[in-house]
Amino acid sequence: MLDEPIRLAELDPNFRFEVIAHEAAHEITACFSCGTCTAGCPIHEAYPEYDPRKLARMVNLGMRERVLSRPYIWYCATCHTCEQRCPQKVGFFNVLNVLKNIAAAEGYAPPSWVNQTKQVMQTGIVFATEEAWVKRREELSLPPLKGDGKEAAKLIQLTNVDKIEVRR
Ligand code: SF4
Ligand code: SF4
Repeated sequence: MLDEPIRLAELDPNFRFEVIAHEAAHEITACFSCGTCTAGCPIHEAYPEYDPRKLARMVNLGMRERVLSRPYIWYCATCHTCEQRCPQKVGFFNVLNVLKNIAAAEGYAPPSWVNQTKQVMQTGIVFATEEAWVKRREELSLPPLKGDGKEAAKLIQLTNVDKIEVRR
């Protein structure tokens, strides 16, 4: 991710102010790149290219386009280990949420995420129901899964998440 050279022309000095405008992400500017978050991150262990310390640095440097357009901000497993261990009290998990909201509004949400949102609105279930599940439930005398996402759809529409499009 940071193996590529940093180009001065890509730096947006306003990016970190855009991020810290959200209260939950205030502490990102206090990051001193110690790497404690990365050392404890289970996703980094599985995918070394995902690196919270580097992402925090990229935000503070103003690498807006690279942070928002690459898939890494969507890798997080939401375990909160990074924020519990950060000596600077950076709520990195919250920072990621802010970044994901900005990225989604600009069309950078992963297509699978947008499809899952549509699926939840239709059925209330994140994953499409498979025929094998239906049969297995019948065999186990379990009640059928109800395909009703009305309540979820209301919440999704209230937050305008249903308006999110993916860049082609
Ligand atoms: S643990 Fe905190 S201060 Fe250290 S690199 Fe991560 S975010 Fe920055
Ligand atoms: S919350 Fe996300 S970034 Fe933080 S340690 Fe867990 S997986 Fe890594």
